[in-house]
Amino acid sequence: MNIKKTFGAIAMAAAVSLSLAACTDSSTTTETDDTEVNTDATFPEGSTMAKLKDAGKITVGTKYDQPLFGLVGASGVPEGFDVEIAKLIASELGLSADQIEFVETVSQNREPFIQNGQVDIVVATYTINDTRKEVIDFAGPYYEAGQSFLVPASNPLNITSDPESIGDATVCTVTGSTSEKNIREYTDNVLAVDKYSDCLEPIRGGQADALTTDNVILAGLVSQNGDEFAVVDGTFTAEPYGIGLQKGDDDFRDFINDTLEAAYEDGRWEAAWESTAGTVLETPEPPSVDRY
Ligand code: GLU
Repeated sequence: MNIKKTFGAIAMAAAVSLSLAACTDSSTTTETDDTEVNTDATFPEGSTMAKLKDAGKITVGTKYDQPLFGLVGASGVPEGFDVEIAKLIASELGLSADQIEFVETVSQNREPFIQNGQVDIVVATYTINDTRKEVIDFAGPYYEAGQSFLVPASNPLNITSDPESIGDATVCTVTGSTSEKNIREYTDNVLAVDKYSDCLEPIRGGQADALTTDNVILAGLVSQNGDEFAVVDGTFTAEPYGIGLQKGDDDFRDFINDTLEAAYEDGRWEAAWESTAGTVLETPEPPSVDRY
């Protein structure tokens, strides 16, 4: 499969409404870790933005095992599109990359980590949905993925992106993800683990026949494993990725949405994509931010 072509075809062509964050208009910047830091950023007293800037630190939950989006590899620090989005947000707070404390989040602990204050934000292939919005809020979306299947390259069971095609197959996925919730509507033969990378050994060993989650996570895992696996063409859900934050912090949510829209307009979002996921996947149009 030509991954670039496939993902280009599904890329959203949503119109982007653009507005610049008022507080960043007269900024000066310094270069740190390729991300320009807005050293002149000023924020209303008592706001989360002011607190983070004054503390000189933001704590960000992200994935550590997902190539292209959030992966801790040889460098020992997380790398990927989600990590770059976190750096963009930090830079508008006047914080450089080395002032971000990354914390590993897996799918099922993202809401509690936000609710308990263990992290300030979560940027972790995190689908915006109403159930999650009951306990946290989301800025974004900053990307839209869709659920699909990873199979052995020969696809012996002829699985397609139609979930009915899995029949009696055992499907591996991650506890607490939308992927798990969605696939359970079609089958009880689910092997639920903590991380997507934990599904590869069961497929190799025959305990599972496929892995299901977002197409871009699957593409990252395929890209790291030679010719062993493939992603089937197509998707059967929409997974808009948001930035999770404390429920009710509307000023912080507006600030992050402003930051995303500014980055869509001035090319920083695209540059973040190209240096990470864009090494394997075609560059999509950014989705419209949802200021609910
Ligand atoms: N985007 C989906 C979710 O937030 C699946 C990927 C993940 O578990 O991070 O549940």
